Amino acid sequence: MADRPSNDRSAVTQPHGEPVRRLTGQKALVTGGSSGIGEGIAIELGKAGADVVVNYLGNREAAEAVAQTIIDNGSKAYAHRADVSDESNVQEMFDRMRREFGTIDILVCNAGIQKDAGLLDMTIDQWRAVLDVNLTGQFLCAREAIREFKRRGVVEEVSCAAGKIISISSVHDIIPWAGHVNYAASKGGVKLLMQSIAQEVAPDRIRVNCLSPGAIRTPINRQAWESQEARDALMTLIPYNRIGEVDDVGRVAAWIASDDADYITGAVLYVDGGMTLYPGFETGG
Ligand code: NAP
Repeated sequence: MADRPSNDRSAVTQPHGEPVRRLTGQKALVTGGSSGIGEGIAIELGKAGADVVVNYLGNREAAEAVAQTIIDNGSKAYAHRADVSDESNVQEMFDRMRREFGTIDILVCNAGIQKDAGLLDMTIDQWRAVLDVNLTGQFLCAREAIREFKRRGVVEEVSCAAGKIISISSVHDIIPWAGHVNYAASKGGVKLLMQSIAQEVAPDRIRVNCLSPGAIRTPINRQAWESQEARDALMTLIPYNRIGEVDDVGRVAAWIASDDADYITGAVLYVDGGMTLYPGFETGG
Protein backbone atom coordinates (compact mmCIF):
# COMPACT_ATOMS: atom_id res chain seq x y z
CA MET A 1 0.00 0.00 0.00
CA ALA A 2 1.29 3.49 -0.84
CA ASP A 3 2.88 5.52 1.95
CA ARG A 4 0.79 8.50 2.97
CA PRO A 5 1.40 11.23 5.52
CA SER A 6 -0.96 11.34 8.45
CA ASN A 7 -3.50 13.94 7.48
CA ASP A 8 -6.55 13.40 9.61
CA ARG A 9 -8.73 16.44 9.09
CA SER A 10 -11.74 14.91 10.77
CA ALA A 11 -12.46 18.08 12.67
CA VAL A 12 -12.73 20.09 9.46
CA THR A 13 -16.31 20.08 8.30
CA GLN A 14 -17.67 21.62 5.18
CA PRO A 15 -19.78 24.72 5.63
CA HIS A 16 -23.37 24.24 4.62
CA GLY A 17 -26.31 26.55 4.95
CA GLU A 18 -29.77 26.07 6.33
CA PRO A 19 -31.29 22.83 4.99
CA VAL A 20 -34.03 23.14 2.41
CA ARG A 21 -37.30 21.76 3.83
CA ARG A 22 -37.81 19.56 0.79
CA LEU A 23 -39.51 16.76 2.79
CA THR A 24 -42.31 18.82 4.30
CA GLY A 25 -45.44 16.72 4.88
CA GLN A 26 -43.58 13.40 4.57
CA LYS A 27 -43.50 10.67 7.21
CA ALA A 28 -40.23 8.81 7.76
CA LEU A 29 -39.14 5.79 9.77
CA VAL A 30 -35.45 5.33 10.59
CA THR A 31 -34.44 1.97 12.05
CA GLY A 32 -31.59 2.12 14.53
CA GLY A 33 -32.19 5.85 14.94
CA SER A 34 -30.87 5.97 18.51
CA SER A 35 -27.17 6.11 17.59
CA GLY A 36 -24.59 6.91 14.95
CA ILE A 37 -25.63 7.07 11.31
CA GLY A 38 -29.32 6.44 12.07
CA GLU A 39 -29.33 9.34 14.51
CA GLY A 40 -27.66 11.59 11.92
CA ILE A 41 -30.18 10.59 9.25
CA ALA A 42 -33.21 10.99 11.54
CA ILE A 43 -32.12 14.51 12.49
CA GLU A 44 -31.40 15.56 8.88
CA LEU A 45 -34.78 14.18 7.66
CA GLY A 46 -36.43 16.16 10.45
CA LYS A 47 -34.54 19.33 9.46
CA ALA A 48 -35.75 18.77 5.91
CA GLY A 49 -39.33 18.87 7.20
CA ALA A 50 -40.24 15.18 7.64
CA ASP A 51 -41.97 13.79 10.72
CA VAL A 52 -39.82 10.92 11.99
CA VAL A 53 -40.24 7.65 13.90
CA VAL A 54 -36.95 6.92 15.68
CA ASN A 55 -36.65 3.14 16.06
CA TYR A 56 -34.29 1.67 18.65
CA LEU A 57 -33.58 -1.65 20.32
CA GLY A 58 -31.84 -1.16 23.68
CA ASN A 59 -31.19 2.54 24.19
CA ARG A 60 -34.54 4.21 24.87
CA GLU A 61 -33.07 7.37 26.41
CA ALA A 62 -30.89 8.03 23.37
CA ALA A 63 -33.82 7.43 20.99
CA GLU A 64 -36.02 9.81 22.97
CA ALA A 65 -33.28 12.45 22.90
CA VAL A 66 -33.07 12.14 19.09
CA ALA A 67 -36.86 12.47 18.85
CA GLN A 68 -36.73 15.57 21.08
CA THR A 69 -34.07 17.15 18.85
CA ILE A 70 -36.33 16.61 15.84
CA ILE A 71 -39.30 18.14 17.70
CA ASP A 72 -37.13 21.12 18.72
CA ASN A 73 -36.27 21.59 15.03
CA GLY A 74 -39.98 21.89 14.18
CA SER A 75 -41.15 18.41 13.07
CA LYS A 76 -43.06 15.65 14.87
CA ALA A 77 -41.21 12.61 16.20
CA TYR A 78 -41.44 9.75 18.64
CA ALA A 79 -39.20 6.84 19.67
CA HIS A 80 -40.35 3.25 19.16
CA ARG A 81 -38.68 0.07 20.41
CA ALA A 82 -38.66 -2.83 17.97
CA ASP A 83 -36.24 -5.58 17.03
CA VAL A 84 -36.06 -5.33 13.23
CA SER A 85 -35.28 -9.04 12.97
CA ASP A 86 -38.60 -9.94 14.65
CA GLU A 87 -41.56 -10.09 12.26
CA SER A 88 -44.27 -9.23 14.78
CA ASN A 89 -42.18 -6.38 16.30
CA VAL A 90 -41.80 -4.91 12.81
CA GLN A 91 -45.51 -5.24 12.01
CA GLU A 92 -46.47 -3.58 15.31
CA MET A 93 -44.03 -0.72 14.59
CA PHE A 94 -45.66 -0.03 11.19
CA ASP A 95 -49.20 -0.40 12.66
CA ARG A 96 -48.39 2.24 15.27
CA MET A 97 -46.90 4.55 12.65
CA ARG A 98 -50.10 4.31 10.59
CA ARG A 99 -52.14 5.14 13.70
CA GLU A 100 -49.94 8.07 14.80
CA PHE A 101 -48.75 9.53 11.48
CA GLY A 102 -51.38 8.11 9.08
CA THR A 103 -48.88 6.57 6.63
CA ILE A 104 -45.20 6.24 5.67
CA ASP A 105 -43.39 7.97 2.78
CA ILE A 106 -39.72 7.24 3.58
CA LEU A 107 -38.18 4.12 5.14
CA VAL A 108 -34.51 4.15 6.11
CA CYS A 109 -33.26 0.61 6.85
CA ASN A 110 -30.24 1.49 8.95
CA ALA A 111 -30.17 -0.82 12.00
CA GLY A 112 -27.07 -2.97 11.85
CA ILE A 113 -24.58 -4.82 14.01
CA GLN A 114 -21.15 -6.44 13.82
CA LYS A 115 -20.08 -9.68 15.55
CA ASP A 116 -16.52 -10.06 14.36
CA ALA A 117 -14.43 -13.26 14.35
CA GLY A 118 -12.05 -15.10 12.08
CA LEU A 119 -13.87 -17.65 9.97
CA LEU A 120 -12.72 -20.67 11.97
CA ASP A 121 -13.71 -19.07 15.28
CA MET A 122 -17.04 -17.69 14.09
CA THR A 123 -19.98 -19.32 15.83
CA ILE A 124 -23.31 -20.02 14.19
CA ASP A 125 -24.84 -17.54 16.67
CA GLN A 126 -22.49 -14.76 15.48
CA TRP A 127 -23.29 -15.62 11.87
CA ARG A 128 -27.07 -15.71 12.41
CA ALA A 129 -27.24 -12.58 14.60
CA VAL A 130 -25.63 -10.41 11.91
CA LEU A 131 -27.61 -11.89 9.01
CA ASP A 132 -30.87 -11.64 11.02
CA VAL A 133 -30.49 -7.94 11.88
CA ASN A 134 -28.59 -6.60 8.86
CA LEU A 135 -30.35 -8.53 6.08
CA THR A 136 -33.60 -10.13 7.32
CA GLY A 137 -34.39 -6.91 9.21
CA GLN A 138 -34.21 -4.95 5.94
CA PHE A 139 -36.48 -7.49 4.18
CA LEU A 140 -39.11 -7.34 6.95
CA CYS A 141 -39.16 -3.52 7.09
CA ALA A 142 -39.13 -3.08 3.29
CA ARG A 143 -42.04 -5.51 2.91
CA GLU A 144 -44.20 -3.59 5.41
CA ALA A 145 -43.33 -0.21 3.89
CA ILE A 146 -44.11 -1.36 0.35
CA ARG A 147 -47.48 -2.77 1.47
CA GLU A 148 -48.37 0.72 2.71
CA PHE A 149 -46.86 2.56 -0.31
CA LYS A 150 -48.97 0.41 -2.66
CA ARG A 151 -52.12 0.72 -0.56
CA ARG A 152 -51.86 4.53 -0.55
CA GLY A 153 -50.25 5.27 -3.92
CA VAL A 154 -48.92 8.66 -5.01
CA VAL A 155 -50.18 11.76 -3.19
CA GLU A 156 -48.96 14.51 -5.51
CA GLU A 157 -48.99 17.31 -2.95
CA VAL A 158 -46.55 15.27 -0.83
CA SER A 159 -44.21 13.59 -3.33
CA CYS A 160 -44.22 12.49 -6.95
CA ALA A 161 -43.23 8.97 -5.81
CA ALA A 162 -45.45 6.53 -3.93
CA GLY A 163 -42.62 5.86 -1.49
CA LYS A 164 -38.87 5.78 -0.99
CA ILE A 165 -36.65 3.22 0.71
CA ILE A 166 -33.05 3.94 1.63
CA SER A 167 -31.04 0.85 2.53
CA ILE A 168 -27.92 1.55 4.54
CA SER A 169 -25.36 -0.88 3.22
CA SER A 170 -21.56 -0.42 3.45
CA VAL A 171 -18.45 -0.23 1.29
CA HIS A 172 -18.30 -3.91 2.33
CA ASP A 173 -21.10 -4.67 -0.12
CA ILE A 174 -18.25 -4.52 -2.67
CA ILE A 175 -14.97 -4.66 -0.68
CA PRO A 176 -14.32 -8.12 0.82
CA TRP A 177 -13.55 -8.03 4.56
CA ALA A 178 -11.51 -10.84 6.13
CA GLY A 179 -12.43 -11.47 9.75
CA HIS A 180 -15.92 -10.10 9.15
CA VAL A 181 -17.46 -12.62 6.73
CA ASN A 182 -20.89 -12.43 8.36
CA TYR A 183 -20.97 -8.62 8.01
CA ALA A 184 -19.68 -8.55 4.42
CA ALA A 185 -22.12 -11.32 3.43
CA SER A 186 -25.00 -9.37 4.99
CA LYS A 187 -24.08 -6.16 3.17
CA GLY A 188 -23.51 -7.90 -0.17
CA GLY A 189 -26.99 -9.35 0.39
CA VAL A 190 -28.44 -5.93 1.18
CA LYS A 191 -27.16 -4.58 -2.15
CA LEU A 192 -28.87 -7.25 -4.26
CA LEU A 193 -31.95 -7.27 -2.02
CA MET A 194 -32.27 -3.52 -2.64
CA GLN A 195 -31.69 -3.79 -6.40
CA SER A 196 -34.14 -6.69 -6.78
CA ILE A 197 -36.83 -4.86 -4.81
CA ALA A 198 -36.14 -1.71 -6.83
CA GLN A 199 -36.70 -3.64 -10.06
CA GLU A 200 -39.91 -5.21 -8.71
CA VAL A 201 -41.58 -2.02 -7.47
CA ALA A 202 -40.36 0.67 -9.91
CA PRO A 203 -43.61 0.39 -11.95
CA ASP A 204 -45.47 1.36 -8.76
CA ARG A 205 -43.39 4.57 -8.57
CA ILE A 206 -41.53 3.35 -5.52
CA ARG A 207 -37.82 4.20 -5.40
CA VAL A 208 -35.32 1.99 -3.57
CA ASN A 209 -31.63 2.90 -3.23
CA CYS A 210 -28.58 2.05 -1.13
CA LEU A 211 -26.31 4.46 0.66
CA SER A 212 -23.06 2.61 1.30
CA PRO A 213 -20.93 4.44 3.86
CA GLY A 214 -17.17 4.12 4.27
CA ALA A 215 -15.66 4.90 7.68
CA ILE A 216 -18.10 7.07 9.62
CA ARG A 217 -17.26 8.06 13.19
CA THR A 218 -19.79 6.10 15.33
CA PRO A 219 -19.71 3.65 18.26
CA ILE A 220 -19.70 0.64 15.88
CA ASN A 221 -16.08 1.31 14.76
CA ARG A 222 -14.67 3.15 17.77
CA GLN A 223 -11.40 1.17 17.66
CA ALA A 224 -10.74 2.52 14.13
CA TRP A 225 -10.67 6.20 15.18
CA GLU A 226 -10.13 6.43 18.93
CA SER A 227 -6.31 6.50 18.95
CA GLN A 228 -4.01 8.58 16.73
CA GLU A 229 -2.33 5.37 15.56
CA ALA A 230 -5.67 3.92 14.47
CA ARG A 231 -6.63 7.18 12.71
CA ASP A 232 -3.30 7.23 10.83
CA ALA A 233 -3.89 3.66 9.65
CA LEU A 234 -7.45 4.53 8.64
CA MET A 235 -6.30 7.52 6.55
CA THR A 236 -4.31 5.19 4.29
CA LEU A 237 -7.70 3.83 3.19
CA ILE A 238 -9.45 7.18 2.62
CA PRO A 239 -8.23 9.31 -0.32
CA TYR A 240 -10.28 12.28 0.90
CA ASN A 241 -8.22 12.21 4.11
CA ARG A 242 -10.90 12.57 6.72
CA ILE A 243 -13.21 10.24 8.56
CA GLY A 244 -16.89 10.66 7.72
CA GLU A 245 -19.36 12.19 10.15
CA VAL A 246 -22.95 11.04 10.56
CA ASP A 247 -24.38 14.19 9.01
CA ASP A 248 -22.31 13.48 5.85
CA VAL A 249 -24.65 10.50 5.39
CA GLY A 250 -27.70 12.28 6.80
CA ARG A 251 -27.66 15.07 4.24
CA VAL A 252 -27.32 12.62 1.34
CA ALA A 253 -30.24 10.61 2.75
CA ALA A 254 -32.42 13.74 2.90
CA TRP A 255 -31.56 14.49 -0.72
CA ILE A 256 -32.07 10.98 -2.13
CA ALA A 257 -35.42 10.76 -0.30
CA SER A 258 -36.57 13.98 -1.95
CA ASP A 259 -38.21 14.55 -5.32
CA ASP A 260 -34.96 16.21 -6.48
CA ALA A 261 -33.68 12.60 -6.82
CA ASP A 262 -36.89 11.28 -8.42
CA TYR A 263 -35.17 9.56 -11.36
CA ILE A 264 -32.78 7.58 -9.15
CA THR A 265 -33.75 4.03 -8.26
CA GLY A 266 -31.71 0.87 -7.80
CA ALA A 267 -28.55 2.93 -7.26
CA VAL A 268 -25.73 2.26 -4.81
CA LEU A 269 -24.22 5.56 -3.72
CA TYR A 270 -20.89 5.22 -1.90
CA VAL A 271 -20.56 7.90 0.78
CA ASP A 272 -16.97 7.02 1.56
CA GLY A 273 -14.43 9.78 0.83
CA GLY A 274 -13.13 7.59 -1.98
CA MET A 275 -12.55 4.39 0.01
CA THR A 276 -13.84 2.33 -2.92
CA LEU A 277 -11.24 3.93 -5.27
CA TYR A 278 -8.58 1.29 -4.43
CA PRO A 279 -6.30 3.86 -2.70
CA GLY A 280 -3.42 1.35 -2.61
CA PHE A 281 -3.07 1.96 -6.36
CA GLU A 282 -2.79 5.74 -6.03
CA THR A 283 0.91 5.69 -6.89
CA GLY A 284 0.72 2.86 -9.37
CA GLY A 285 0.19 -0.02 -6.89
P1 NAP B 1 -24.26 2.14 15.86
O1 NAP B 1 -23.87 3.51 16.28
O2 NAP B 1 -23.77 0.96 16.61
O3 NAP B 1 -25.87 2.09 15.83
C1 NAP B 1 -26.56 0.91 15.55
C2 NAP B 1 -28.04 1.20 15.68
O4 NAP B 1 -28.76 -0.01 15.34
C3 NAP B 1 -28.47 1.56 17.11
O5 NAP B 1 -29.46 2.57 17.03
C4 NAP B 1 -29.08 0.27 17.65
O6 NAP B 1 -30.09 0.49 18.61
C5 NAP B 1 -29.72 -0.28 16.37
N1 NAP B 1 -29.97 -1.71 16.41
C6 NAP B 1 -29.09 -2.73 16.59
N2 NAP B 1 -29.73 -3.92 16.53
C7 NAP B 1 -31.04 -3.63 16.30
C8 NAP B 1 -32.21 -4.42 16.13
N3 NAP B 1 -32.17 -5.78 16.18
N4 NAP B 1 -33.38 -3.80 15.92
C9 NAP B 1 -33.46 -2.45 15.88
N5 NAP B 1 -32.39 -1.65 16.02
C10 NAP B 1 -31.20 -2.24 16.23
O7 NAP B 1 -23.88 1.84 14.34
P2 NAP B 1 -23.64 2.80 13.08
O8 NAP B 1 -22.19 2.87 12.82
O9 NAP B 1 -24.44 4.03 13.18
O10 NAP B 1 -24.23 1.88 11.92
C11 NAP B 1 -25.50 2.09 11.36
C12 NAP B 1 -25.58 1.35 10.03
O11 NAP B 1 -24.57 1.85 9.17
C13 NAP B 1 -25.34 -0.16 10.13
O12 NAP B 1 -26.19 -0.84 9.21
C14 NAP B 1 -23.89 -0.29 9.72
O13 NAP B 1 -23.62 -1.56 9.18
C15 NAP B 1 -23.80 0.79 8.67
N6 NAP B 1 -22.44 1.25 8.39
C16 NAP B 1 -21.72 1.91 9.34
C17 NAP B 1 -20.44 2.35 9.01
C18 NAP B 1 -19.58 3.14 9.96
O14 NAP B 1 -18.44 3.43 9.62
N7 NAP B 1 -20.06 3.50 11.14
C19 NAP B 1 -19.91 2.10 7.74
C20 NAP B 1 -20.67 1.41 6.82
C21 NAP B 1 -21.95 0.99 7.15
P3 NAP B 1 -29.81 0.55 20.22
O15 NAP B 1 -28.50 1.28 20.40
O16 NAP B 1 -30.99 1.29 20.75
O17 NAP B 1 -29.76 -0.86 20.71
